[in-house]
Amino acid sequence: MRTKVVIIGSGPSGLLLGQLLTEASIDNVILDRVSQDYILGRVRAGVLEEGTVGLMDRARAGARMHKEGLPHDGFSLAFDGRDHRIDLLHLTGGKRVMVYGQTELTRDLMEHREHSGATTIYEAANVEPHDFDSHQPYVTFEKDGATRRIDCDFIAGCDGFHGVSRKSVPETALHTFEKVYPFGWLGILADVPPVDHELIYANHPRGFALCSMRSQTRSRYYIQCSLNEKIEDWSDERFWDELRRRLPQHHAEAMVTGPSFEKSIAPLRSFVAEPMRFGRLFLVGDAAHIVPPTGAKGLNLAASDVHYLFEGLLEHYQDRSNAGVDAYSARALARVWKAVRFSWWMTTMLHRFPDTGDFDQRIQEAELDYLTHSVAAETALAENYVGLPF
Ligand SMILES: Cc1cc2nc3c(=O)[nH]c(=O)nc-3n(C[C@H](O)[C@H](O)[C@H](O)COP(=O)(O)OP(=O)(O)OC[C@H]3O[C@@H](n4cnc5c(N)ncnc54)[C@H](O)[C@@H]3O)c2cc1C
Repeated sequence: MRTKVVIIGSGPSGLLLGQLLTEASIDNVILDRVSQDYILGRVRAGVLEEGTVGLMDRARAGARMHKEGLPHDGFSLAFDGRDHRIDLLHLTGGKRVMVYGQTELTRDLMEHREHSGATTIYEAANVEPHDFDSHQPYVTFEKDGATRRIDCDFIAGCDGFHGVSRKSVPETALHTFEKVYPFGWLGILADVPPVDHELIYANHPRGFALCSMRSQTRSRYYIQCSLNEKIEDWSDERFWDELRRRLPQHHAEAMVTGPSFEKSIAPLRSFVAEPMRFGRLFLVGDAAHIVPPTGAKGLNLAASDVHYLFEGLLEHYQDRSNAGVDAYSARALARVWKAVRFSWWMTTMLHRFPDTGDFDQRIQEAELDYLTHSVAAETALAENYVGLPF
């Protein structure tokens, strides 16, 4: 079998890249080690930057997102028993974000891919990229007991943090940067109306909390927790009690609770692998970088990588120029590091760290005070939150 681009991974980055390439008549095949249903069962990100929304439109997969997604013009910072609204629309001169679940975005992209007739091979075992330092790379995998091979021009490693693409690169060629945070997020999904029509990021002496949503009837709530916590120790009742304690009183009183249908603990980490290109293999999205979810950047960074890679591949096939492909890693990393910085900053400002002394605590309070009294500081926050330009 032969194609132009083999995409390893059918998460948001692989599917978005595949759809953009298909729309541009550039043949591609997607391989994933798990099933379509398994991917659709993963509950992850939910806040889309305008750039991500624009890419979904460019891939002609944005119709349902515009119908069912919730445009948000602002969000709240809650601390010291009060709320401070960050007016994204006003501060950024008209930009907003879209609340639309990663699961829904993935479903839309999968459906469009199916209609387009492009090939996706799910449950492909032992996927391996080969000879990507040559002009004739290929990918092997096992399916139905047989080993198969796809020859291609390029390989896009869209296979997430634990995927095979980054691991296929010689260790000496990679420079990795990592910061692990000393806490996690305990998150639930419940079919109850959100406590507010916008997101609330809460800094509280008991720890951070986030009130988010997937729709007007489905809420996504998180609380900061110790990494030693066990999910079975957290009944719904205990979770709701703890969440209410971390919110200003008017929100705690307004909160509608109910049974959760998803509950999980996620560790928080910042990670970057440089460079993002090795010959004809490109790392895209979580395969190259991870951010703590505090700034809602993970999925959006995956989308901006896709933008740079798609532009490079388009130039290669349409204009016979490798300039965009050659510039991919540098362009993507310049934006990645700014989002890594923003996510680290939001995390540092809003969480309680186990080793925080009096000095650090006062600095955190001063930061929040400055933010809520300086339009310049608010504008910097808003500009990063809605997403820096591609
Ligand atoms: C629990 C959790 C919660 C999150 N919450 C948020 C959030 O609230 N906000 C936010 O912005 N971001 C969040 N993120 C991050 C966001 O979901 C990711 O940044 C986004 O999914 C990245 O997309 P991706 O396509 O690069 O990688 P992924 O979504 O990880 O997709 C990678 C795909 O590659 C496949 N794959 C892996 N290995 C192989 C292999 N060897 N062979 C073939 N296929 C393979 C996987 O099955 C998967 O389908 C969260 C992530 C996690 C894990």
